[in-house]
Amino acid sequence: MKQHYKVIILGGGSGGISVAARLLKKSRLKNKLLIVDHADYHAYQPAWPLVGSGADRKEHSRKKMQRVVPNGAILTQQKVTGIQPLEKIITLDHNLRVTYDYLVIALGIQQDYDKIEGLTETLGKNHVSTNYLYDYVDYTYESLQQVTDGNVIVTKPNTPIKGGVAPENSLFTFKDFFKQHDRTQINLMLKSGNHTLFPVEKYRQKLEELLTKKHISYDLNEELVKVDGPRQTAAFFNYKTGVRNEVPFSMLLVTPPMSAPDIIKQSTLVDEAGWLDVNPYTLQHVRHQNIFGIGDCTNLPTVKMGAAVRKQAPVLAKNLVSQMKGRKLKARYNGMTACPIATEYGEAIMAEFGYDLQPKESMPIDQAKTSHFLYFVKKKMIPLMYWQGMLKGRS
Ligand SMILES: Cc1cc2nc3c(=O)[nH]c(=O)nc-3n(C[C@H](O)[C@H](O)[C@H](O)COP(=O)(O)OP(=O)(O)OC[C@H]3O[C@@H](n4cnc5c(N)ncnc54)[C@H](O)[C@@H]3O)c2cc1C
Repeated sequence: MKQHYKVIILGGGSGGISVAARLLKKSRLKNKLLIVDHADYHAYQPAWPLVGSGADRKEHSRKKMQRVVPNGAILTQQKVTGIQPLEKIITLDHNLRVTYDYLVIALGIQQDYDKIEGLTETLGKNHVSTNYLYDYVDYTYESLQQVTDGNVIVTKPNTPIKGGVAPENSLFTFKDFFKQHDRTQINLMLKSGNHTLFPVEKYRQKLEELLTKKHISYDLNEELVKVDGPRQTAAFFNYKTGVRNEVPFSMLLVTPPMSAPDIIKQSTLVDEAGWLDVNPYTLQHVRHQNIFGIGDCTNLPTVKMGAAVRKQAPVLAKNLVSQMKGRKLKARYNGMTACPIATEYGEAIMAEFGYDLQPKESMPIDQAKTSHFLYFVKKKMIPLMYWQGMLKGRS
């Protein structure tokens, strides 16, 4: 590894790899582009809710990191421990310092399990699980198969999260599972810290209709604050009433609160809420012209999804190349994102919208209508597009 690179990309996830692939196609960056990611594997995370419901295999969801790194890029499997934008230096493990001309920050989002009292001690036991970590998704399905009665609670925090509709995917497929296995004693419920079911009215209405039709109860403004695994009770704080109540459960599926990675929060690159502060249209950092950001770690005001990253990557690559050439940044990201929701095994809807929170559906069908086709798109077509298109800078 050299001590200086023309471009350094922090994070080899969805955003980092797709931008690297596009930059290498657009400009002469062979061996001048460094990707930093400490993870051994690159994961297609959207598969995990289906794995947790027994509808997919988790082994299909990841590849060794080196296998997704585009030709011409250098990968270093180390942790970023510091970013000094004025000096154009990043610090890696063992205090190793590397300098850059241009920096792309694609470090994803941090999952704050420790913000819920008692959760880390019981995760993976007592039928408490999460689909947000590769190592626990099998336990979700194991618990689902074992539970026969009582409250099955799916939670959602009020912080921004990645894969914004992952809890709903689990909720609906769990319901189908219980129906197929005649588990009529189970009371399935969603407890969400948000004040609404969905930010776009058309899909909010659809979700409400489906929850009512399927007899799934839901409570909004309810934040999971404590889990007692051995007693199988969960405490929720209600933002509206200020009341804290305890609910017994036989299974608890947790989506933890999330925030920007600490390394970003500790830098000078953030907005007031701690997210990487970028221009919502050009993806350029608001104070440093040689820094760009993509994906879950940014303050882009849209739902944090791989589908959003897919639309951001070409914009970032084009604008970064323009910046290198001293030209105006012309490419614009309009907030487009997509949220596929399995409404049962074999059926799905797909919300698609931009910054204006108005539906912008890309297929010639009503995407709020449940269909086999949209499930096929979610389960089969999007993963294929991801591995073969997006990560290779093609789609
Ligand atoms: C359960 C679940 C369901 C989802 N469902 C969907 C869906 O249906 N549709 C959809 O479009 N999206 C979905 N998503 C969201 C999607 O996976 C993310 O939005 C997308 O991966 C974001 O890309 P990113 O590059 O910002 O972050 P990531 O892909 O998470 O990549 C961040 C990378 O940064 C690395 N990193 C972090 N910190 C450091 C550090 N200090 N040093 C070095 N490397 C570091 C990490 O190892 C990681 O490889 C889902 C996610 C989950 C977890």
